[in-house]
Amino acid sequence: MIRGFTYSASPAHIDFGSGKAATVGEWVERIGCHRALILSTPRPQVEVERLRNVLGDRAAGVFAGAVMHTPVEVTERAMEMVRQTGADCVVAFGGGSTTGLGKAIAYRADLPQIVIPTTYAGSEVTPILGQTQEGRKTTVRSPRILPEVVIYDPLLTLGLPTGISVTSGLNAMAHAVEALYAEDRNPVSSLMAVEGLRAFVRSLHVIIERPNDEAARADALYGAWLCGTVLGTVGMALHHKICHTLGGSFDMPHAETHAIMLPHTAAFNAVAVPELLAPVAELFGGSVGGGLWDFAKAAGAPLALREIGLSEADLDRAATIATQAPYPNPRPIDQASVRALLQEAWEGRRPMG
Ligand code: NAD
Repeated sequence: MIRGFTYSASPAHIDFGSGKAATVGEWVERIGCHRALILSTPRPQVEVERLRNVLGDRAAGVFAGAVMHTPVEVTERAMEMVRQTGADCVVAFGGGSTTGLGKAIAYRADLPQIVIPTTYAGSEVTPILGQTQEGRKTTVRSPRILPEVVIYDPLLTLGLPTGISVTSGLNAMAHAVEALYAEDRNPVSSLMAVEGLRAFVRSLHVIIERPNDEAARADALYGAWLCGTVLGTVGMALHHKICHTLGGSFDMPHAETHAIMLPHTAAFNAVAVPELLAPVAELFGGSVGGGLWDFAKAAGAPLALREIGLSEADLDRAATIATQAPYPNPRPIDQASVRALLQEAWEGRRPMG
């Protein structure tokens, strides 16, 4: 039987397709703006320059200093450039780190945002901003943070290294897996979650073999949109709480941490809600955690927290932090069960179930 639910659709404009980045100037005008500050990470600037050329005199300047976890000091430097250039909107061109900077600016100055995502993190379709100050990561949610326009152009993802493609894809898949058992899930979010997972199952192994395969890149970006949309729509649970803990308090890299944790948190919760995770079992060879672990291994993802620099001595503290102010979770948790789960993930063992 369909349970009662509430459903609100995001008001963002989505423009999807190869070559669509060329429409960025039109979008600047359609949202009533004239001078866009382009944001990026400090990676090679050829594509950023191309974007600046497309924008022509609608480009106010380039701030290429975005970094992971949106440190407030970086946002303040970008805000200074907003003031100096008289920018009236931002164009964030890159992964979740760049999108995060655009959101941080929008949150402070209420500037409209156009995002051109080049990873699968999904931040571009959520009203959530995580930022760090003095080593502490805090999260805010506001309609002002949700980007107004997202341009998904698969051609701009052809150069995304395969390692990042895989971990970023698993990051997106984690949004979908947790959406399936979210307390506030609804039939549409669950449909999107399963379709998002399917898109990555179809595309990630092709991308590993042929990073320039445009159809596979389009499929993965489609999956990223769906998985990001459910992240922005329903509440996340234990998996995201653990990853926020490891990122915020132990400086673990975002996508890799999600990639390693997903099979373990999914296996843990599958015990409590096998019926809700049945579509995951079906997609991954009959087992939720084991199937996701096999998929991640075949894709060459890191499998153990120790591989990405977490010390075993930190596991007790991580379990304690992750169980404080817990997110709602379908299976009850305590310090001991989360500690055991972290040990498995630290060692990189294939989860049962
Ligand atoms: P990222 O944006 O840091 O990108 C990873 C690396 O890939 C960077 O070095 C970047 O320069 C490079 N890169 C990006 N696109 C490229 C391309 N097409 N070709 C070559 N290199 C490219 O990493 P991410 O995983 O996309 O984002 C992580 C950040 O996003 C974290 O700060 C995380 O907290 C945030 N995030 C926020 C939300 C949200 O809803 N608020 C959701 C997901 C992630």
